[in-house]
Amino acid sequence: KPFSELGLSAKVLAAVEAAGYSEPTPIQEQAIPHALERRDILGIAQTGTGKTASFVLPMLTLLEKGRARARMPRTLIIEPTRELAAQVEESFVRYGRDQKINIALLIGGMSFGDQDKKIDRGVDVLIATPGRLLDHFERGKLLMNAVEILVIDEADRMLDMGFIPDIERICKLLPVTRQTLFFSATMPPEITRLTEQFLQNPVRVEV
Ligand code: AMP
Repeated sequence: KPFSELGLSAKVLAAVEAAGYSEPTPIQEQAIPHALERRDILGIAQTGTGKTASFVLPMLTLLEKGRARARMPRTLIIEPTRELAAQVEESFVRYGRDQKINIALLIGGMSFGDQDKKIDRGVDVLIATPGRLLDHFERGKLLMNAVEILVIDEADRMLDMGFIPDIERICKLLPVTRQTLFFSATMPPEITRLTEQFLQNPVRVEV
C-alpha cells in the first residue's frame, strides 16, 4: 500500500514525500491506519524498522484538529534516554514542518527554566524521559488531564534501566480515556504485564 492510502493528512503526506520515502515500511503500513482510528497499539519492533514514523505521522495527523492550552500537553511520548528523546523531537520537526505545533523536550541535564516556558506556552507534543517528567509534575508545573495520546517507546530498554515504577506512576496520572501506543523490541514478562495494565484492546503489530 502506498503512503497516500493510509489515511494521513495532506500536510503530513507532503512532508513524507519531501523526506524521500517511496513506500511505508511494514510497521508503518500496519500501524498507521489503526492509530488514526484511535486504537491502542502494541508494536513489537526494533529500531531501524521505521517505528518512529509509525507513531509520529498519525499523531501529527490527529493533532491537526484542536489546540493546546497552557500547561496541559495534548500528547506525551516517553523515551528511555535523552538521545532517543532528541531524535524523536527531530522527527516531529521534520514531518510536522507544514503544521503549527508546539513541541517541548523535557530531559535531564538542562535547566528547568526554558522547559517551564515551553510548558506555559501550551504543548502539542511533549517528549520526555521519565525522571525529568516526574520532576516537572511534582513541581506543580504540568497538568496531565488533557493528554489524549500516550506513547511508550523502547519499553524493554526502560525495563533494563529500572524505569518501570516511574512508567506506572506516569500512566496513573493520565486520563483513563486516552490512546496508548506502546513499542518494545522484545516482550519479557514484566513488559507483558505492563501492556495488560495500560493498553485497552490493542492492535498487535509484530515486524
Ligand atoms: P526508526 O526505526 O524509526 O529508528 O527509523 C529508521 C530510519 O528509517 C530513520 O532514519 C528513518 O528516517 C528511516 N525511515 C523511516 N521510514 C521510512 C520509509 N518509509 N522509507 C525509507 N526510510 C524510512
